[in-house]
Amino acid sequence: MTGIVIAIDGPAGTGKSTVSREVATRLGLAYFDTGATYRVATLACLRDGVDFAQTSDVAAMVATMNVELILDPRNPHVLLDGEDVSAQIRTDTVALTVSKVATNLEARPILQELQREVIRMETVGGLSEGRGVVAEGRDITTVIAPEADVRVLMTADDEVRVARRAGEGADLATVREAVLGRDRKDATVVSFHQAADGVHTLDTTDLTIEEAVRAVIGLAHEAQL
Ligand code: C5P
Repeated sequence: MTGIVIAIDGPAGTGKSTVSREVATRLGLAYFDTGATYRVATLACLRDGVDFAQTSDVAAMVATMNVELILDPRNPHVLLDGEDVSAQIRTDTVALTVSKVATNLEARPILQELQREVIRMETVGGLSEGRGVVAEGRDITTVIAPEADVRVLMTADDEVRVARRAGEGADLATVREAVLGRDRKDATVVSFHQAADGVHTLDTTDLTIEEAVRAVIGLAHEAQL
């Protein structure tokens, strides 16, 4: 027996992180935020003064950075050189820069390989003791884990996504760029607006978190029947 893999993709503001964490918590699975790997790589480059235009320098940093991911859905965090940088990877500076790493075609495969390994580990051991993992991102259903037991694309109307992110009192122009501008940049290397064959679309525009969580858990139960 190997653990279950639940893959959830979608753009920012669809609720995928909240839903993924809650599903992982209820099902006793690990929670893997693949976006955090791109974010921590971005932070490592910013801290080291790496020039993002030098794609090989970025890739070298990604290949050598000292990162640890704690996949606890109740308290996920990310360590860089042993320091907890979970808050630092969520700043506007990182959000507005991260696409430079995500669209770097030398750096991206290194992170993708790391992600595949993390997912594989959780199906046989790891934090979940082999129960499995909820992995969320932009290309999990299509590229990283196309064989996942459950594959979901979460969507929501653009304005609803911006409003959800702006809820925290942030500057609207910055939020708009960090949500819609980032989508546009990311979409140049990965497709996450249309569900691939066999991927369930979950439009959260009019759903509560609880309804979305139940929908994903329903699919997980169906997959295990
Ligand atoms: O999900 P989150 O907003 O934290 O992702 C941060 C960034 O990481 C995205 O904007 C995208 O550039 C990149 N990403 C990606 N592929 C993934 C997950 C995230 O390119 N699977």
